[in-house]
Amino acid sequence: MKRLGIIKGVLVLVFLVFIIQGGNRLYRHRHYDVPIVSGPGVTRVARLSDFGPGLKGTMADTWVYFLEGKEPGGKALLMSNTHANEPEGLMATVIIIENAVVEQGTLIVIPQFDHSASVNTRAGDGYPLYFEVKTDWGRKKFRMGNRDASPLDQWPDPDVYIHYPDRQLLSYIDVRNTNRTWPGRPDGPLMEKVTYAAMEIMRRDKVDLAFDIHGAETMFPVTNCIVAPDKSIKIATLASLTVKAKEGFDNHVEPSPGGFRGLSHREIGDYSETLPFLLEAPIPFLDQPTGPKTEKFLLDGKDPFLLQLAKKQKLFVPYDESGWPLEKRVGQHCSVMLEIFRQYAKKNPERSILVRGIPRYAELVENGVGHYFRDPSAAEKDRVYMN
Ligand SMILES: [Zn+2]
Repeated sequence: MKRLGIIKGVLVLVFLVFIIQGGNRLYRHRHYDVPIVSGPGVTRVARLSDFGPGLKGTMADTWVYFLEGKEPGGKALLMSNTHANEPEGLMATVIIIENAVVEQGTLIVIPQFDHSASVNTRAGDGYPLYFEVKTDWGRKKFRMGNRDASPLDQWPDPDVYIHYPDRQLLSYIDVRNTNRTWPGRPDGPLMEKVTYAAMEIMRRDKVDLAFDIHGAETMFPVTNCIVAPDKSIKIATLASLTVKAKEGFDNHVEPSPGGFRGLSHREIGDYSETLPFLLEAPIPFLDQPTGPKTEKFLLDGKDPFLLQLAKKQKLFVPYDESGWPLEKRVGQHCSVMLEIFRQYAKKNPERSILVRGIPRYAELVENGVGHYFRDPSAAEKDRVYMN
């Protein structure tokens, strides 16, 4: 009897050691903040909860950076980490916050759009908890998030997610996916409150252009593209043709399907005056038939199994030994946004957005992403915000 008690006690102890060790790593990830330096162009910083009720004090609240030009003009809203496991968007917005100077118009940037997803993990798929980008002053460490908001912040999930207001039936998990909860409502589930607050920014600030910046699998047809509804498709097409001709990379246009509800490129256009664009860069790390999901693979996009599949023409993007490195993915995003600003200004000169300091594709490929990150320890304390 006594021996059995000892064995049980030891087993409980071993179990506790595993729980505490594993839990501690996840707890530290959830509370690891990434410093972002407000660059010379940032004129004010707000919270998303300033625009929508119910976010204050939750993990879904997040920083909103305003970069206002001296001359009035058009306005653009940039959102990254809608899906926090697609870091190319976040890299692009951090570069913009830390470097861009707006001469005409306004940029409104939300780097951790689904902040709750950015503190969520995908340990079951073997995702790394963090990744580091080499900079000129050391390494900058970021949290690797997940596609969906953390169940610690929004729970329980319904059996089926009934989209608001169209009542389309979506998968239960999409209730925590901020690219299915548009246009949102002030008293809905937490992720609907997030998209509602962004809609409020667009409506109140009369935002001209909205960018939802993503990465997508190379085996998924909607990758390496600009997704646009009818009202944005002309500008998207002109931008796509121009970057191909001038900068030499492909970024085709996909029309936003009218029947799929909840997506930014659909609902923003339908529920505001804003022209939405969803940008997708290829991210091999998200494909299923690959080797281990390492930090290196996340950054360089090189995988021997995808290379085999490319030879069998199973991928929707060109793929060779060079992979799809982060700097190419981020460079595409920066160049496409700059080109869309330019195309919009040609048609609406009084609503121009003129920005300097955002590197284009070739510069990012040449210099790398980290070259554009500012050292938070060298910045003035009140210019550093923890994201
Ligand atoms: Zn995405």
